[in-house]
Amino acid sequence: MSDNQTLVDQVNKILGKIKDPETGRRLRKQIHETKVEDNLISVKVGLTSYANPLKADFENEVKNALESELSEHEIAVDVVEHVRPAQSVGQVGLTAKAVIAVAAGKGGVGKSTAATSLAIALKRSGCKVGLLDADVYGPSIPHLTGVRGNVTKVDNKIQPLDFDGIPLMSIGFMVPPGEAVIWRGPMLHSAITTFLRDTAWGDLDYLIIDMPPGTGDIALSISQMIPLTGAIIVCTPQEVALIDAIKAVGMFRKVGIPVIGLIENMSSFVCPDNGKEYDIFGKGGAKDYASQDKIEFLGEIPISIQLRERGDSGQMWANFDDPNVSPFLEKIAYNLTKSLAEKAVLTPAQPQLPVLG
Ligand code: ADP
Repeated sequence: MSDNQTLVDQVNKILGKIKDPETGRRLRKQIHETKVEDNLISVKVGLTSYANPLKADFENEVKNALESELSEHEIAVDVVEHVRPAQSVGQVGLTAKAVIAVAAGKGGVGKSTAATSLAIALKRSGCKVGLLDADVYGPSIPHLTGVRGNVTKVDNKIQPLDFDGIPLMSIGFMVPPGEAVIWRGPMLHSAITTFLRDTAWGDLDYLIIDMPPGTGDIALSISQMIPLTGAIIVCTPQEVALIDAIKAVGMFRKVGIPVIGLIENMSSFVCPDNGKEYDIFGKGGAKDYASQDKIEFLGEIPISIQLRERGDSGQMWANFDDPNVSPFLEKIAYNLTKSLAEKAVLTPAQPQLPVLG
């Protein structure tokens, strides 16, 4: 065996100890190429679009692992896309790797803003994301995204509208704006069926669902149809808001839906006139509660006049060009993917499937 081949084997052995963030399983087919030329070791390792927010961490992990064991060599790591389609979740034909409910104990805390921002942040990282506005009592996603129109059917499937590459569905596309709809049990169930079973979402990494605030009817309907990966609770820092958030956490736990974490919205306000930070609604309450109740704190969003204006004019993508807002939104997407990856390490996804590329 040539020296080079021995070294290639050694490199592959080191890479084989690293875990895929999506499944928690060791890299195998994700080792796309290993080359040794003189002193240079170059590897191509694959990462699925699902785990894209963790790309920099993954690249560092691979680089550090190789450098620590093969310190006399120069190491070049190229992270390439590894294609692994999503599987069906539940019996409804939805293909998604994670279905995330974004919820709040009450309205007006910025739940829809957080859900939309999360979807955009994941999309910007290269994930395949769908956004579902299931807030049947006050669908605000059409307003926030500026996407309006009527849904059409092709081959008996409802075609979601397009929000710059994010398939989008909202009850707001199905009832005229401003028209009050009294949703009761069977109607709610039928709306949820339309959303999950009859909509052509395509192959998704993440389906982000903006839930109605408060009670758990919709959560229950959805969880009866598909296994939800978990819920994210959005709250504001005041103590009264926290009480509602705690209730929401309790509700999800009661119906057996895991609580992934908490987002604190309207955390602080940086005054544009003097650059001073003001904690208008207090600070840290949600973080403290999260740590007491062993819930992950996924991040915070500051109060921003521009963020509100962009929401009102359907310009939510522009928040990602704003250095006062963008890092906060990106951090939340990163923390979410990281949290799911850590859980995948503990319980590898779909362990019943022997080989998944
Ligand atoms: P919810 O879905 O909880 O009812 P929304 O996301 O619709 O709340 O937000 C309610 C209002 O508050 C919107 O006008 C939105 O633009 C505004 N808003 C949300 N988060 C912030 C924030 N961090 N800074 C400024 N305005 C915000």
